[in-house]
Amino acid sequence: MNSIFISPVYKLEQLRYIFIVLTSKSCNQRCKQCYIDFPINRHDKDFIDINKIKEALVQLKNESIECIYLTGAEPMTHPNFNNILRLCLKYTNVCICTNASFINEKKARFLRKVEDEGKNNLFFRFSLSHYEELKNDMARYRGSFRQTFFALKNLERYGFSIILEIVNYYREEERVLLEMFRKKFEEYGVNPEISIGQYFDKMNPPQEYNDKSKDCTNSRTLTQNGVYSCPYLANDYRGRMGGSFLDYAKSVNAETEYCMECTSCSVIHVS
Ligand code: SF4
Repeated sequence: MNSIFISPVYKLEQLRYIFIVLTSKSCNQRCKQCYIDFPINRHDKDFIDINKIKEALVQLKNESIECIYLTGAEPMTHPNFNNILRLCLKYTNVCICTNASFINEKKARFLRKVEDEGKNNLFFRFSLSHYEELKNDMARYRGSFRQTFFALKNLERYGFSIILEIVNYYREEERVLLEMFRKKFEEYGVNPEISIGQYFDKMNPPQEYNDKSKDCTNSRTLTQNGVYSCPYLANDYRGRMGGSFLDYAKSVNAETEYCMECTSCSVIHVS
């Protein structure tokens, strides 16, 4: 019997969020579970030009963007990161999606100063894979667990809100994950918001679509090369929406392996 594959089409309902990929090749870590295929040569960089971001913000001046997500690979490896952060914060709220390894007490103090310069808010998004240090670090990098809790403590000390995404790498029961993570938070004296995300296994991609909300219905992603549907498909021809925010596609044929499992990364409660 012949079968025809028909992919869903997701329309952009309202442009509420912008993801900016500061780099898709530069990260100071190599997490086992990362969905990015990194270049073999660590010196192969692709940092976005700050002028590209300035241009995009001018093009978006009539939109009501609730939050800009600075993401990557690791956005804080960008040599012009502080200026990009200030630029985006002048425009709207900003969330930094980071592996947490650059945030010590001094950096948290500096970030507090930057946020206090204007009226918009700065948030953070971290992720962990397991409540046991060893199992977490096996899925990520050595030291990831302690580094993340260290960064959480530093940022909370300066009054920041942090979303901690638990990537369910070991496919455990969500109830158990939440309970065990809450115990860890008590132990370390931190109190982030939690969300649970599914692990995307590149070697064994899902075969069916889930019905969770998708980033391509409320956001677009900017990279050095143009505008894309979402961070998963940044710089991937299958997610290309256009060259700039002056003219970009408002619907997506969700036909990639990522589209089946993906769920929205955007934070809803930013105001
Ligand atoms: S992977 Fe991207 S384009 Fe595909 S459904 Fe998810 S958000 Fe939309």
